[in-house]
Amino acid sequence: MSHKVLIINGDGIGPEIIEEATKVIKVLNDKHSLGLEFDQAMLGGEAIDATGKPFPDETLEKALASDAILFGSVGGPKWDKVDSAIRPEKGLLAIRSSLGLFANLRPAILYPQLVDASSLRPEVVSGLDILIVRELTGGIYFGQPRGIRILENGEREGFNSYVYRESEINRIGKVAFDLAMKRGKKVCSVDKSNVLEVTELWRELMDEVAKDYPEAELSHMYVDNAAMQLVREPKQFDVIVTGNMFGDILSDQAAMLTGSIGMLPSASLDENSKGLYEPCHGSAPDIAGQNKANPLATILSVAMMFRYSLDLGEVADEIERAVSGVLDQGYRTVDILTQGYIEVGTKEMGDAVTAQLK
Ligand code: NAD
Repeated sequence: MSHKVLIINGDGIGPEIIEEATKVIKVLNDKHSLGLEFDQAMLGGEAIDATGKPFPDETLEKALASDAILFGSVGGPKWDKVDSAIRPEKGLLAIRSSLGLFANLRPAILYPQLVDASSLRPEVVSGLDILIVRELTGGIYFGQPRGIRILENGEREGFNSYVYRESEINRIGKVAFDLAMKRGKKVCSVDKSNVLEVTELWRELMDEVAKDYPEAELSHMYVDNAAMQLVREPKQFDVIVTGNMFGDILSDQAAMLTGSIGMLPSASLDENSKGLYEPCHGSAPDIAGQNKANPLATILSVAMMFRYSLDLGEVADEIERAVSGVLDQGYRTVDILTQGYIEVGTKEMGDAVTAQLK
């Protein structure tokens, strides 16, 4: 059965990085006769301009009909002043929740060739390979009630609700342990159970899930300590599992350990491994349209797509080897450029990867 891939460019550098990632998919599709089918849709600012909505119904229909979605990034100054209910970023939250994409996988891998691009000392980060599993459709970003209300004394008060159900905690725990079993068999669950009841429940349930994985080792860490340990001794981690907000922050922090956010892919999966694949970074309006963006995070997201949604792990390995190969050749976009290497643009980097694959 052929797989359907939906391609969404998005805003800012989105079209440039997606063009390079699409080249990679098409080369592999031809090389291995994979029979993939492609479709296109709009999300974010581009969709607001065309339809008035950040997540048009047509995009939802196409997303539901696809096996995997490859997406660039949304947002930019052009839409900063639009009504907050239809901001580009709302489109992204809406597609994640409408498709039930509850498991966000963010690997932070330091390629040995880029050890000098990290802000930490080589001995602290070389060989780094962490997988952050972030719960994506619950927690404080979605909890109700929420809003800004006026108190009796006329003062305004902002409020949000941090809520997790047992079923939500159990399913993300299971994803983390299943993935850990294919790697270093270590899961560190990050919470704030000394202060927040919701994460007290989180910790208790992670202990329960761990009983089904006797070969795996579970540890618990408070989020403030986890933030510190990530820069002090990041190689102690294998898989980190955490809630939506803590995962949002810790995964960006882990990103910097690898040198550039331009190197970090992500996958957001539902219960059946259908997924949305996107780079961890945003739409980088400061460099959009200048052929400066690093396309490797998006190309590595394609590798995750082959591995997790299309069940073609060997094709994923091929892409990762090709990325490593172009780094060995000395090619660097400006975000990962250090002295002595060859500066290339978005397009040239994409061409170098496809040349390796051919
Ligand atoms: P950003 O990730 O877009 O940019 C941060 C910095 O990193 C910038 O200096 C940018 O030039 C650089 N950068 C990002 N990606 C790069 C790449 N591939 N190659 C080289 N350099 C890269 O974050 P921001 O500036 O905070 O946000 C810009 C816009 O993106 C905002 O509208 C924000 O809401 C949106 N955003 C979208 C997503 C998403 O679509 N998933 C995520 C984060 C931010």
